[in-house]
Amino acid sequence: MKSFPWENVMPSEKIISYLNSGKCFKLICGAGNQNTDEIMKLCALYAAAGCKFFDLNASVDAVRAAKEGIKFSGKEDDCFICVSVGTKNDPHISKCKIDSEKCVSCGSCEDVCIQKAISTDVSSRIINEEKCIGCGKCIDVCPVQAIERYSKEISFSEILPPLIKEGIDCIEYHTITDNEDEVMRGWSEITKQFDGVLSVCIDRSKLGNERLIGRLNAMKNACQNIFMVQADGAPMSGGSDDYRTTLQAVAAADIVLKANITPYVIMSGGTNSKTMALARQCDLNVSGLAIGSYARKIVKEYIDNENFLRDKALFEKALNIAKELVNTCK
Ligand code: SF4
Ligand code: SF4
Repeated sequence: MKSFPWENVMPSEKIISYLNSGKCFKLICGAGNQNTDEIMKLCALYAAAGCKFFDLNASVDAVRAAKEGIKFSGKEDDCFICVSVGTKNDPHISKCKIDSEKCVSCGSCEDVCIQKAISTDVSSRIINEEKCIGCGKCIDVCPVQAIERYSKEISFSEILPPLIKEGIDCIEYHTITDNEDEVMRGWSEITKQFDGVLSVCIDRSKLGNERLIGRLNAMKNACQNIFMVQADGAPMSGGSDDYRTTLQAVAAADIVLKANITPYVIMSGGTNSKTMALARQCDLNVSGLAIGSYARKIVKEYIDNENFLRDKALFEKALNIAKELVNTCK
């Protein structure tokens, strides 16, 4: 396995050391986010702010964009790249589409889409597939149920080899489904191909606690890789910066930690600047946290500026905001 960025050092050891510190900060660019310009800028910014772990869409273009951004920050000797794959209908790897026959062009979906993925077509709205991360916020506000999620069938044996060749350090497997056979089939394909760190992103929406723990144990027993869990409170529910929004992320991590499956547990799904404080109040021995929606939202106005990487003052302003968030893990 060719790894980025260390030629002769096992990246797994560096990731473990980061997780063991309890201060791991993982930036989620969005498993479905294929907007390479945004990925590059986000990685440049958060790497400069002290983040070392980057979670990306499983495409060579996304990995290259992230590396370019990390290189811009000058931190390429210190960062890890993770790509996200998932079971067929997991929302993290889904997209949304609008049925133009049903759309009454009210604009509500466009207003709530923080990815700015929705624009006006002739008589309805349309969704830009590359920008959409499948969060479903548009579905919730559509008055005529014109929006639905869809997932494409992904063959791990096709998409993983070029990514592994490109140089990745971790694969994250999203498993929001109650189909155990599908989960284990995908797991078997991933573990056959990849010998780096594996992360399982799991939530309780389709499973009770007992099944969730049973599944994680089965996955752990079926692999030789270093195994971490990303405990998801409520997938892609972040955005607000309050304790209630992040409560489920902390609760999900607590359940996984109590089961003693792996010492490496990070929180996600509704994470924000309050998450680590709440976890510490609850005495949770977590390895850190992963933040997507909230981390992207607080710097969005800067990232969207086309001069973002050229205008030093602009970059500095966004950097101060990003640093404040990353430092909640310290
Ligand atoms: S609101 Fe979310 S799901 Fe809807 S178009 Fe925007 S990114 Fe996609
Ligand atoms: S919310 Fe629904 S009806 Fe309104 S513009 Fe969007 S898709 Fe069309």
